[in-house]
Amino acid sequence: MVQWTQAEAEMAKQSENVLHRLNEHGFEAYWVGGCVRDEMLGRAVDDMDITTSASPEQVMALFDDCIPTGLQHGTVTVRSGGYYFEVTTFRTESEYQDNRRPAAVQFVQDIKEDLQRRDFTMNALAMDVNGVIVDPFGGQKDIKQGLVRCVGLAVERFGEDALRMLRCVRFASVFDFRIAHHTWRGLVNQRELLQHIAMERVRTEMVKMMAGPHPLKGLELLFRSQALEYVKAPVDSSRFNKELLVGLQLLSGEHVLLRWSCVLLAGGYNREEADKLLRQWTFSNEQRVRITGVLQVEQLVTDFVVQCENERMLRESWIVTVLTCGAQAANDWLLLQEQLTKHWRDGSEEVHARMRKVQTHAAGWSQSMPVHEIKELEITGEQVLQLVERKGGPWLGQLMKHLLRETAIGNIMNQHETLRAEVKRVAANDQA
Ligand code: ATP
Ligand code: MG
Repeated sequence: MVQWTQAEAEMAKQSENVLHRLNEHGFEAYWVGGCVRDEMLGRAVDDMDITTSASPEQVMALFDDCIPTGLQHGTVTVRSGGYYFEVTTFRTESEYQDNRRPAAVQFVQDIKEDLQRRDFTMNALAMDVNGVIVDPFGGQKDIKQGLVRCVGLAVERFGEDALRMLRCVRFASVFDFRIAHHTWRGLVNQRELLQHIAMERVRTEMVKMMAGPHPLKGLELLFRSQALEYVKAPVDSSRFNKELLVGLQLLSGEHVLLRWSCVLLAGGYNREEADKLLRQWTFSNEQRVRITGVLQVEQLVTDFVVQCENERMLRESWIVTVLTCGAQAANDWLLLQEQLTKHWRDGSEEVHARMRKVQTHAAGWSQSMPVHEIKELEITGEQVLQLVERKGGPWLGQLMKHLLRETAIGNIMNQHETLRAEVKRVAANDQA
């Protein structure tokens, strides 16, 4: 029995049952790819893929609980004890179309042929139920040396499927591996082919890379290879302030999305530009709002620190910023400030001093806000209408915003009578 240290014990056992059953019926079967690699790396194994000499039909006949996931590619998903395993028939690939995904596959009988179609030596590893490892391309040695190396000729392999170039950078970044010389040369050579890859797939690789422990390393590789200049929604690497990116590593866990804000900030993107890019990069609405919120706060703050001459004005402008952009964006912006190098912004020493004041006090100012939204006010729009005996219109929204601002700053209390008095005062002024 194989001792898996990085896979959940029950998942390991269930997958082993699948291998055994295939073996009992005279078929070869192995754990393959990412799970074998991750076990060697001492990284958590989340899913366990299986490869076998049995044809998809033979696999289907052996297991009651299975889903024909991708029969034409030889993949059957077998369910065992609540776990799902992708069981794929040994195969080779050919006729890659438009530098992505093979048009045809051929089933074969030799595991080595199957491993040969895989992208990197560390991913071209298989292990049988006895723990015997099949490693025809030196994957174990490369893992020990921390090297990402293509199986075969890099120029050809990246030419077949351009996404592999981004996988290459992602693995180097996440594992903190170096890229073998020829593999790197192949990547630089073939980078133009990235134009054929759907942005959704590009994003998936980038998101994995950015969520890993060494995002900066990945970005540096992308900048050096200029790979991102060639994707469908290109990014010009020369626009990035590299110094600002150093803070990336410190934002981790639940703050991983903030890394994207940091990158866009370092690229000098304003909110609109960033939103457009993220849309092209197929980020979800929710993600876009979160990432660009920080840029909106940045714009407002850099504007108001120039205007506001004293702490009272800074505080008020900060509170208006929180009301405009939302508490989440404001908090995100503050969190990011702690990671950024000082003095990256233009401006006089005086403006810098004001910015520092905001950075120091903003959290407290936010805390002091008794209200954040109009619906929290102790007066409704309906009540305001009755009070001033005027027909509704844009003025009402303006007035409600004014009340929110005044109560958030603390100039007036959030009490019904006080708000009524303020409404009357403003209405009287308007008449005059
Ligand atoms: P992770 O799951 O951490 O993203 P992985 O290597 O397991 O990494 P998968 O997409 O799960 O990636 O693919 C499983 C295996 O299939 C890989 O280990 C590799 O052997 C092979 N593979 C995946 N994508 C490609 C590709 N574009 N070209 C060649 N082989 C690939
Ligand atoms: Mg995987």
